[in-house]
Amino acid sequence: MPQPGRAKPDPHRRLIEVLDAREHSLRERIAERRAALESAAAAPDPAGDAGDIAFDHTRAEVEHDLIERSLRELGQIAAVRSRIAAGSYGECLDCMEPIDPARLEINPLARRCTACQEIFERRGGSYGRPWRERCA
Ligand SMILES: [Zn+2]
Repeated sequence: MPQPGRAKPDPHRRLIEVLDAREHSLRERIAERRAALESAAAAPDPAGDAGDIAFDHTRAEVEHDLIERSLRELGQIAAVRSRIAAGSYGECLDCMEPIDPARLEINPLARRCTACQEIFERRGGSYGRPWRERCA
């Protein structure tokens, strides 16, 4: 029996798998961090002194920051999915030239070719480092 959708291999199948896995782990991490924040807020250490409280606040800020970063990355993944759907994935946002596949291999969320990315960063923009480096 022929299976619909299997006749033509999707060139982005592997990428979508990578995105799915990444999205899954991001969502898990967000859920874990939110749970940790909630339980810390619900049960403050009654014997905690000012130093402990300050430490808790700093930690909460760090956690919030990490959650925000994860949410941003989820947004980038969603943007990649819509670029795949639109057929513009792998195109540089600035010069419209194809992005080096090796670059996309390292950072599937890259939106610019290496040259345009360098210009972008020099102008003060930032897109962070490739996720493999960032999350090592
Ligand atoms: Zn470019």
